[in-house]
Amino acid sequence: MDSYDVVVIGSGHNALIAAAYLARAGKSVLVLENNDRIGGLVRTEELTLPGFKHDVYSSAHPLFTTSQAYADLGADLTARGLRYINTDIPTGVSFSDGRTAILPQAFEAALAEAERLATGDGAVLSQMLASFNPYVEDVFGLFSMDLQSPTAQTMIQRLLRSETGYSPFSKLLFETARNVVSPFQSPVMQAMLAPWVMHLGRTPDEIGSGLWVYLIVLATMGAGMATPEGGSEQLARALGSLISDHGGVIRTQTAATRIVLSNGKASEVHTNTGEAFKVREHVIASVNPDQLYLRLLNDSPQPEHVLQQAKEFRYGRGCVQIHLALSEPPRWPDARFNRIGQPHLTDGLNQCTLAVAQAMAGLLPINPTFTVDCPTNLDPTRAPAGKAIMRVQVLEVPCRPIGDAAGQIAVGDGTWTGDLTQRFVERILAIVERHIPNIPSSVVGLHTITPTSLAQFSPNLGPGDPYGGAHDLAQSYLLSPLPAQPSHRTLVPNIFMLGAATWPGHGINGGSGYIVAKQLLG
Ligand SMILES: Cc1cc2nc3c(=O)[nH]c(=O)nc-3n(C[C@H](O)[C@H](O)[C@H](O)COP(=O)(O)OP(=O)(O)OC[C@H]3O[C@@H](n4cnc5c(N)ncnc54)[C@H](O)[C@@H]3O)c2cc1C
Repeated sequence: MDSYDVVVIGSGHNALIAAAYLARAGKSVLVLENNDRIGGLVRTEELTLPGFKHDVYSSAHPLFTTSQAYADLGADLTARGLRYINTDIPTGVSFSDGRTAILPQAFEAALAEAERLATGDGAVLSQMLASFNPYVEDVFGLFSMDLQSPTAQTMIQRLLRSETGYSPFSKLLFETARNVVSPFQSPVMQAMLAPWVMHLGRTPDEIGSGLWVYLIVLATMGAGMATPEGGSEQLARALGSLISDHGGVIRTQTAATRIVLSNGKASEVHTNTGEAFKVREHVIASVNPDQLYLRLLNDSPQPEHVLQQAKEFRYGRGCVQIHLALSEPPRWPDARFNRIGQPHLTDGLNQCTLAVAQAMAGLLPINPTFTVDCPTNLDPTRAPAGKAIMRVQVLEVPCRPIGDAAGQIAVGDGTWTGDLTQRFVERILAIVERHIPNIPSSVVGLHTITPTSLAQFSPNLGPGDPYGGAHDLAQSYLLSPLPAQPSHRTLVPNIFMLGAATWPGHGINGGSGYIVAKQLLG
């Protein structure tokens, strides 16, 4: 039986980052991936037509380019072909009545844009950013730390307490995004900022979402909306090369099915190919607690309360992502959008939260708020000359719809069949047309990712949740991934968990990969 210091289950970017650190440090590493290629949700394919390179799932990496992992590994990854393309206008908003706004990276320009929307809103934005200043270092520092560690606990205490009681920051943990944007007079400004919390797995009226408005504004103004030249998968390729160059072994089309324990510690990993690999030191599992405790460790039952919590691990709403091949670039009425990162299309914050409520009730939303991005605006390698690609990301979608809020689309048993998908895509593209007049007329190819296809792609997405588990307060921070396992250290001493279900959560941030690597390397 082949043996390795570390066996890594799954090859999402966090797992690859951890494997890269360990291989670089001289550990023998085996990475097992169920799919045909490494990278998990970091994947680029010619989904529609030859030469049109779509990011099948994730695209923008602003949280990764500002991470500790990128600071450490960036030079090695650049040497292996990873190059980021960025924009100075990370986001914006377009209303169907024609009003638009942008959030530039440049501080003064952002204030001027807010002021243009409503007198006084520039000062509100300035005050908002200034009020968060005392917390920035600790908050962003925590993204690369085990929240259970003594240093992190000290930082958390510092964030929560003030000289006379609790700090304004502590209130933010329970604030809604709606409340946070309410000081802005302009509904356009409110709708530019609050819907972003949906990309962090929250919703604008949800308790605890308010903090994430600050974080997204700071992150995008600080980092832009960096995307790898050639597509998101360049990150996985560069990480894969880094691992292989340091002797790491990568096996695709190989799923881990069982972890065998000896004397309470992981000693072997078995796969669906009938193989078994000996573990000399550690297992790193890029899986959710349901898979780890209920399937992979099924032969070595863990304490009952842990099994119960693993059973209760919840998934969030689904996602429909529409990939378009276009015969020409999108013709935005506001020319500033020709170099924008990822703007929302909306009819306002109330429309957004109504659509969320419909999705939470299991209904296809009538008028969702969603983002579009057009990577070819900044990266011409992604499509044949003169042509374009576009990604439309709709996050207010039930994984298994039980009805249609508009009463127009028959949902059957809730499976995203071709027919259901097509009808919903027509609804979305009709909305896009109100904002970008040459869509859908310039569409020459189309491919849709649905909750059903997400569920088929990876067990970590449950019934089709793009963010690998609900990220509401009860499943966040010190309660993630489980109250009984509030860190990356599992109940088995030499098994570590990383990925979207663990702190700092979903998104291309590399945080859990970095945290686990540091824990293993000491
Ligand atoms: C449609 C969509 C769009 C998104 N857009 C963005 C975006 O633009 N920006 C952003 O920051 N985030 C985005 N995200 C979120 C982001 O992609 C994920 O949060 C992130 O990729 C999760 O990374 P991870 O390290 O947890 O691993 P994942 O990418 O989830 O990969 C896990 C891998 O483990 C494998 N695996 C699981 N179990 C086993 C097993 N037993 N044996 C072998 N292999 C196994 C799976 O096959 C999978 O390949 C998007 C997500 C989706 C679905």
